[in-house]
Amino acid sequence: MKKLDDKPTVLVLGCNFAGLTAARYIREECKDNVNIVVMDKKDYINFIPNIPIEVFSNHNPADNLLFPFKKFLESENTHFFMAEVLDIDADNKQVIYKPNERAGAASQKISYDYLVVALGCRLAYDEIDGFAEFGYTFSDTYNGEKVRRFLNEGYKGGPIAIGSQRFKQGTSDKLPKLPSALAACEGPPIELAFSMADWLKNKKLGDAHKITLFTPGEVIAEDAGKTILGKLLPMAQEMGYGYVANTGGIKQIYKDGIEFLNGTSLDAEMKIVFPNWEPHAFMKGKPFTDSEGFVITDLFMHNPDYPEIFAVGDAASVTVPKLGALGHAEAIVVSKMLGRLTNPKMANATIEPLSPMVVCFGDMGSHKGFYMHTNEWWGGNISVMQMGRMPYIMKISFKNMYHELGGKIPTWGMPLGEEFSDHIHL
Ligand SMILES: Cc1cc2nc3c(=O)[nH]c(=O)nc-3n(C[C@H](O)[C@H](O)[C@H](O)COP(=O)(O)OP(=O)(O)OC[C@H]3O[C@@H](n4cnc5c(N)ncnc54)[C@H](O)[C@@H]3O)c2cc1C
Repeated sequence: MKKLDDKPTVLVLGCNFAGLTAARYIREECKDNVNIVVMDKKDYINFIPNIPIEVFSNHNPADNLLFPFKKFLESENTHFFMAEVLDIDADNKQVIYKPNERAGAASQKISYDYLVVALGCRLAYDEIDGFAEFGYTFSDTYNGEKVRRFLNEGYKGGPIAIGSQRFKQGTSDKLPKLPSALAACEGPPIELAFSMADWLKNKKLGDAHKITLFTPGEVIAEDAGKTILGKLLPMAQEMGYGYVANTGGIKQIYKDGIEFLNGTSLDAEMKIVFPNWEPHAFMKGKPFTDSEGFVITDLFMHNPDYPEIFAVGDAASVTVPKLGALGHAEAIVVSKMLGRLTNPKMANATIEPLSPMVVCFGDMGSHKGFYMHTNEWWGGNISVMQMGRMPYIMKISFKNMYHELGGKIPTWGMPLGEEFSDHIHL
């Protein structure tokens, strides 16, 4: 692909949560001092966090959660095209890709001046023995619909196990100091335990006593911090949930249960699992990636060896846990970094590094939800958990706002949402 003028090209790879938000804020900060090109193998957003709500409301999640985004990019003179990224040649500042509209396309190259990697991860269900036959999950609309059909047509009211495969976090001595996680993202298992218990109750099939949560870690959702877990775990126990920690990871899923790597097993009719979040194969062994293939950055989302490479969202090594809210905050940091590099009016701007924290709204069923806002796991002192109608309203409102605004939540939107949710109980 040839350059049309001599403005620097910012190439954004991936256009789901982190990529779309980054592309839009980069335009805001860099103005027309750059050309922005965005590439993804699909041309819609998959609004993953709301899949459970749709499934438990008996809707096919694909009907409500796949949003087109092209009009937002076009209106800002950002060029989008659909293609599969095959490789990144960092030394020659080129990306090798293949247009994926029709099979048989020839692979091509595109050069960049600045690269923003927002390619997420591959969710490695294919590495869990027995998942295809006996496992269920909620991480895309296909799997959400499969759960919905099973709940309506196949589920007999037996025990349910919900939990995660062991996450392999990358390492590198070039990374900032980070806590390490044994599961990639344990907000979803917690959310599903609550909403599934509510669904069982509404269907008169039981309650929390039917559900066992399991984790490869010493404790589930470690990133929620000790203060929140000190309230959440006793509450879950009182409600009747089963709980198994230190599984070591999933060895196999079979018809009547799950076997773990520590030699124990759980009987379950329904096995809901979240896999290892693994970097795409072509990211492994790169001079700018960690031991697993996640992009190495500092807290300005900037690679220390390739100053033109940035990363945001799940593809970045510092994004632990793999949380969309972290990707959103990182997209804002990257846009300011690129603004300072390319927009003369921002040449002296002061930029704050990423301040990692969990900000999470979860569904609990019956129009209630939970809200967590904490940075305790990273050594901070914020620790707020609320339950009630307000977090549910915020979760639905965030989806609607994201849809309406094309991923560009106003910069005051997230801080206002946090302030509101921290202090208002409903
Ligand atoms: C059930 C569930 C619930 C969740 N709930 C929450 C929540 O409440 N709050 C929260 O903050 N987070 C939540 N998360 C986590 C959140 O979904 C992820 O952190 C978020 O999707 C990461 O965004 P991303 O843009 O980095 O990656 P992704 O969303 O994975 O997007 C990556 C993009 O890159 C594209 N891509 C990948 N490979 C290629 C390639 N080779 N070529 C071209 N394009 C490619 C993909 O098509 C995709 O569009 C949840 C996750 C799950 C599974």
